[in-house]
Amino acid sequence: MKAIVFDRHGEPDVLRYIDLPEPKAGPNEVVIKVAASACNFNDIWARRGLPGMKIILPHIAGSDVSGVVVERGSEVKDINLGDEVVVHCGIACRHCAYCTRGEEFFCEQFKIWGFQTGPNDGAHGEYCKVPAVNAIPKPKNLSHQEAASIPLVLVTVWRMLVTRARIQAGDFVMIWGSTGGLGVMAIQIAKLFNARPIAIASSDDKLELARKLGAEFVLNRKSHDILKQVREITDGRRADIVFEHTGAETWPLSMQCLKWGGTIVTCGATSGFDAHMDIRLLWNKQQNYLGSHLGNKGELVEALRFVERGLIKPVIDRVMPLKDLGKAQTLMETNTVQGKIVMVPN
Ligand code: NDP
Repeated sequence: MKAIVFDRHGEPDVLRYIDLPEPKAGPNEVVIKVAASACNFNDIWARRGLPGMKIILPHIAGSDVSGVVVERGSEVKDINLGDEVVVHCGIACRHCAYCTRGEEFFCEQFKIWGFQTGPNDGAHGEYCKVPAVNAIPKPKNLSHQEAASIPLVLVTVWRMLVTRARIQAGDFVMIWGSTGGLGVMAIQIAKLFNARPIAIASSDDKLELARKLGAEFVLNRKSHDILKQVREITDGRRADIVFEHTGAETWPLSMQCLKWGGTIVTCGATSGFDAHMDIRLLWNKQQNYLGSHLGNKGELVEALRFVERGLIKPVIDRVMPLKDLGKAQTLMETNTVQGKIVMVPN
C-alpha cells in the first residue's frame, strides 16, 4: 500500500510517500480500507518530535479515518466485512479499574492511535488497522470525507465543555482558535447547550465562518482589545468558560478574561507550554483551571448522536490527495485553515 511515513523528526520534508506492506489484523483487530483520513495538530507534534514523549519510528501519523472493514481478526464477532466505520483513537487495555469506569485515558496502557502507536500504525495510508473495539459505525448521514473530519476533535471538545467544564445554558464561552479543528466543534457544542459563544480568530474571513457556525460574538485577535471587548459583551462579568488550547501566548489573557468562579478548560498549547500564571487570580477569584485530554469512547458515541441528527456538522476546509500531506501540515502551521483538512488516498 501507499502511505506517508517519516523515520526522523523535522520539517514537512521528512514525510515520504512510499510503498509498505498492508497491515494484517491480529485476533481482536480489524483492517480498514481508508476512504479518507483527517489532519490533526497532533500529526504535526509527532512529526516535529515532542520533549518527554516517545514517538515510535518509522511512523505513519493520523488518528482520524473513515473507511470500510476489509479484514477482521478471529476473535472479532460484532463487526462485519464491508461495515463502514470511523475510529475512536484512544487505545487502552479495556480491563483495568480506570478503563472499566470510563476513564480509559488514565489506563497505564493508554495511547493515542496514530500518535503514540507504531511503528507505522496510523491513518495516513491506504489501509490501517485498529482494535475492533475502537471501530464505530460511520454516521449514516455523512460521506466518508465528512466522517473522517469529525471524531478526534468532537470527542476532545465534548469532554472539555460537557464533561469537564459542565457547560450551562447562558454561559459566555470564550473560544480561542474558533475556526480551527477544535474551535469549529466548540462553537457548535456551545450553541447546542444554548450557551453564548464568543469566537476569537485572526482574520475577518475566519470570523465570518464562526458567525455561520453560531457564534453570537466574534473578535479578531489581531485588531480587537480582547479583554475590553469581553468585558463589554458580558456587562463586566467576563467569560464563564474560556476554551483554551493555544497555550503560552494566550494564557495570561485567558485568565484575565475569566469571571470570578469561572472555568478555564485546556487541552493543548500550540503557542508554547511555558505559560505565565498569576496565582493570586486563582485563589482570590476562586477560578477553576481544568485539564482535559481526548475523551472516552462513550463520550464520542454520545456526541456522534448529535452529528447524526445534523445538530453538529463537519467543517471541511479542503480535500487533498494523501501524497500532499506535507502541504496540508504547512497550511495548518501557518494558521490558514478553516475547519479540517481531509486527505484521500490517490
Ligand atoms: P488547528 O491548527 O486546527 O487550529 C488551531 C487554531 O489556533 C488556529 O485556528 C489559530 O486560530 C489558533 N492559534 C494558533 N496560534 C495562536 C496564537 N498564538 N494565539 C491565538 N490563537 C492561535 O489545531 P487543532 O484545533 O486541531 O488543535 C489545537 C491544539 O489542541 C493543538 O495544540 C493540538 O495539539 C491540541 N489538541 C489536543 C488534544 C488533546 O486531547 N489533548 C486533542 C486535539 C488537539 P487564529 O490564528 O485564527 O486565531
